[in-house]
Amino acid sequence: MCMIEDVDKLLVLSDVTRKAAKSHRCCECGRGIERGEQYRYETGVSDGRVVTHKTCAHCLIVREWLSGECGGWVYTMTEEDLVEHCNGYGHPMSVYRLAVGQRRRWRTRKGALMPLPTCPPTTHERAGAA
Ligand SMILES: [Zn+2]
Ligand SMILES: [Zn+2]
Repeated sequence: MCMIEDVDKLLVLSDVTRKAAKSHRCCECGRGIERGEQYRYETGVSDGRVVTHKTCAHCLIVREWLSGECGGWVYTMTEEDLVEHCNGYGHPMSVYRLAVGQRRRWRTRKGALMPLPTCPPTTHERAGAA
């Protein structure tokens, strides 16, 4: 079960990678994107309204996986979608680690920013490799 099916697609007007000059808030995990970090800045139109999304580098990995797994993602809903996938049938550990990382706002127990995760293989890739 995946949530991308019943949501309006966002029409993306611009999509750039920026280096933060001041701190921002990630629209997916809610963490602060600190000065000097790279993040994705997207502007688009959804439901006739202009919306902007700032996404941290870590959450972009989650999107990459959801995009391969589900064929897309929903802005601000990647955490929910990823958790929903983790409640389903067996994914590799790296998928669960990704969900835990996102829930922890990509912070280790000591509060340091986690290193950027690698994108786990999707079910499709794993089926192809078997
Ligand atoms: Zn999904
Ligand atoms: Zn994030």
